[in-house]
Amino acid sequence: MSEQPTGVWVYLQHTKGDLTRDSLELIAAGRSVADKLGQKVVGVIVGSGLDAMEKKAIQYGADSVLSADDPTLAVYFNLAYADAIFSMVEKKRPYVFLFSANEIGKDIAARVAFRVPTGLATDNVQLAVEDYNNPALGQFKNLLIQIRPDFGTRLARIYTPRHRPQMATVRPGSFAPLAPDPARKGKAEKVEFKPKVYPAKVTEVTELPPPVPDLGGADVVISLGMGILRDAAGAPRDPRDAYNYARELKEIIESRYHLRAEIGASRALIYAEVKELAGLISKNNQVGQTGTTVKPKVYIAVGISGALQHRVGMQNSAKIVAINTDPDAPIFKIAHYPIVGDVYEELPKLIAAVGGGAVG
Ligand SMILES: Cc1cc2nc3c(=O)[nH]c(=O)nc-3n(C[C@H](O)[C@H](O)[C@H](O)COP(=O)(O)OP(=O)(O)OC[C@H]3O[C@@H](n4cnc5c(N)ncnc54)[C@H](O)[C@@H]3O)c2cc1C
Repeated sequence: MSEQPTGVWVYLQHTKGDLTRDSLELIAAGRSVADKLGQKVVGVIVGSGLDAMEKKAIQYGADSVLSADDPTLAVYFNLAYADAIFSMVEKKRPYVFLFSANEIGKDIAARVAFRVPTGLATDNVQLAVEDYNNPALGQFKNLLIQIRPDFGTRLARIYTPRHRPQMATVRPGSFAPLAPDPARKGKAEKVEFKPKVYPAKVTEVTELPPPVPDLGGADVVISLGMGILRDAAGAPRDPRDAYNYARELKEIIESRYHLRAEIGASRALIYAEVKELAGLISKNNQVGQTGTTVKPKVYIAVGISGALQHRVGMQNSAKIVAINTDPDAPIFKIAHYPIVGDVYEELPKLIAAVGGGAVG
């Protein structure tokens, strides 16, 4: 057993023999923390037939990989996977252990944290490393700061001063995968896994259809907010007009620029259950803390105020265009292209601008 806990571990999920995009993002998240700490990123993989994925993890930024590679682990089964991961943690004692905040990541992270035992800060959108001084608790150097929206309008900064590893889940879409380097080298170590008989077993795996729309993978997201319900003078508008503008914009972007565009929405618009938008916009369109986190090349916020819970789901977009009648709307604090104006006047202009000019 090593003396001091060390290493930033990232739990890497896979499907059909390949690492998931969430996992590649998580390596980047781990890298950002490890570089500040002067520690190594260790990819943790559980499954069967993992050699190619071990190499890929290293190419995407892990320094080394620990894997439990056993035919009995071919299909995700939380009891066996938690055993495999927990035995690695017990033997090697990492300093930080990150998981993706998706269904499997949340399931397995909670089980491992309970057994260590240590805390688990869930749904983080940023990570930092800082010292923490508390007169009652003492001074702690180089803590992982786990940053997530709280239930109001603030960002919570969560510390785990005493327990190791400091465990956290990271929302998909919060970090971009690093560019792969095929020449990158690192050690891959297989850790022994002793299969047990469990009181439950997986008898069937049903693959769910991909989400519609697939906001997470879009190059451009055009999101509609409560501002589409009225014009600038406050008179009610049929929001289908704004939806149709967004659809036209999406089609132009796809056909002329060969980028994938999707329509998103604020939670307020979805929860408003506007009858004209029935069948056009649903919970699947929601961007934000309790929806999807997106990081497209271009995010177009249409009549969206930019509440914290919305911003945390889109603020890492490469370029942000915002249309809003209120020049003081919070969305303008992060918009690269602020357009102060009425949705119903500005969207047609935007359509003309992207559809009329030469393709660059
Ligand atoms: C725990 C929790 C989780 C949440 N999760 C999410 C989440 O995941 N995603 C999310 O989006 N929200 C979330 N919210 C809700 C969030 O706090 C806001 O209420 C919501 O984002 C507001 O949506 P909006 O911007 O569409 O509406 P509003 O805040 O009402 O903003 C409408 C905007 O439109 C502008 N406007 C009005 N008319 C026009 C016009 N004609 N042309 C142009 N602009 C116009 C206004 O100036 C205003 O800025 C969450 C809240 C909580 C408490």
